[in-house]
Amino acid sequence: MTDTAYDFDLFVIGAGSGGVRASRIAAGYGARVAVAEEYRIGGTCVIRGCVPKKLLVYGSHFAEELQDAANYGWTVEKMTFDWPTLRNAVAKDVDRLNTAYTNTLDNNKVEHFLERATITGPHGIRLASGRELTAKVILVATGAWPVVPEFEGAEHAITSNEVFDLETLPKRVVIAGAGYIALEFAGIFNALGSHVTVVNRSETILRGYDAALRDRLLQITMARGIEYKFNCGIERVEKQADGSLHVFMKGQDDPIHADTLLVATGRRPKTDGLGLENADIALGEHGEIKVDDEARTSCPSIYAVGDVTNRVQLTPVAIREGQAFADRVFGGKTASVHYDCIPSAVFSQPPLASVGLTEAQAREKFGSNVKVYTSDFRPMKNVFAHRPERGLYKLVVDAQTDRVLGAHLIGPEAPEVLQAVAIAVKAGLTKADFDATVALHPSMAEELVLMR
Ligand code: FAD
Repeated sequence: MTDTAYDFDLFVIGAGSGGVRASRIAAGYGARVAVAEEYRIGGTCVIRGCVPKKLLVYGSHFAEELQDAANYGWTVEKMTFDWPTLRNAVAKDVDRLNTAYTNTLDNNKVEHFLERATITGPHGIRLASGRELTAKVILVATGAWPVVPEFEGAEHAITSNEVFDLETLPKRVVIAGAGYIALEFAGIFNALGSHVTVVNRSETILRGYDAALRDRLLQITMARGIEYKFNCGIERVEKQADGSLHVFMKGQDDPIHADTLLVATGRRPKTDGLGLENADIALGEHGEIKVDDEARTSCPSIYAVGDVTNRVQLTPVAIREGQAFADRVFGGKTASVHYDCIPSAVFSQPPLASVGLTEAQAREKFGSNVKVYTSDFRPMKNVFAHRPERGLYKLVVDAQTDRVLGAHLIGPEAPEVLQAVAIAVKAGLTKADFDATVALHPSMAEELVLMR
């Protein structure tokens, strides 16, 4: 396999979820592999995405637990929260993972360059230091980057890239956007005691999720004190002498007063200045690298995986794509990635999770041949804690075959429950199979087998 005409058999640009997996698997097949990373090995998920975000969710969730603890007999005196303690502990864990990922590359004999790389031709790479390298195959795994809409004073806004490093916990946060990242941080800041205002261009939150769950989340988070302003965009932001911000919305005279403006309005494939034109690599309408079913770009020696291809921007998908690429190209296997029934979650408070078709998608596909089962329940834990919030579980079923087409859950621990249900939905099990399963009592998950 080794072709000494090139410096490497495989050169990967980007050591994130997809790039690290592809590198180590290809190296395991005996390929000479190198990877370039311009920031930190591990990529978005590990360094400034899923992992630190989930740790902040855990950290902030103690507010609810401690509040409810009194009903369970606990006296918690002088409850205080210290942001720098949590922030620094999260940063330390990120350092640990960064080291672990670096060790993984070393242990698999993947050479790594901690600098930016660009493409100079079908087999050519240039590092920021000026060094020129060649590879038989190049894999682009550069991920995505937060999009900040244009408005005056946009430089005063932060994105998810900076949110983990905030000096102090803001008393008032404005969050632009209503996708999963926006709502997860809305939940974190709200739980930590900040006043949160979510501003959004449309009146839809979490596009793509089932409408019943979205409504439930809106209801609960509003009751928890998160303010929403829909159908409005930011016109300009003015920084005040005391460092605070005045966020002016289009068509409104009075600004929102804030300490932090977090923009979470989407992520665009990261291809700027990558030199794609040097290898005639075609882009799609959202700036994504276009690839075929085998992750090959319009240049036969260059492949792309993960967020930069803008298929499904999730870590497990990038990892599968990286694995399948390495198995095919360096392992001689016929590996492919299946994009149906990919489970996903929003770690809002409460969290929601989903797999398969929403009710609206199923009705579009199957018309009236769709049955919907719901369980609208108040978790025992909430009842006991005098917490009025209700969970909602929903199964979408093909009325003709009885097959469960989708499962949608909101409530405590919904993502943990959903991962197991996703196996059943992916396996094509029927509603009768769910019904035939004896409930595990007492649990919230038992609602899934008790819907009639
Ligand atoms: P990345 O992991 O982004 O890696 C790309 C790497 O390439 C980066 O390290 C970058 O520095 C590097 N790079 C870019 N250009 C160059 C260059 N020219 N030269 C050298 N290096 C370069 N997904 C989930 O599944 N669950 C979640 O809960 C979740 N939460 C998230 C929360 C946040 C705040 C964010 C931002 C994302 C979250 N995601 C989540 C999405 C997830 O992080 C991505 O889908 C995943 O990281 C994509 O992997 P990737 O390999 O495509 O790219």
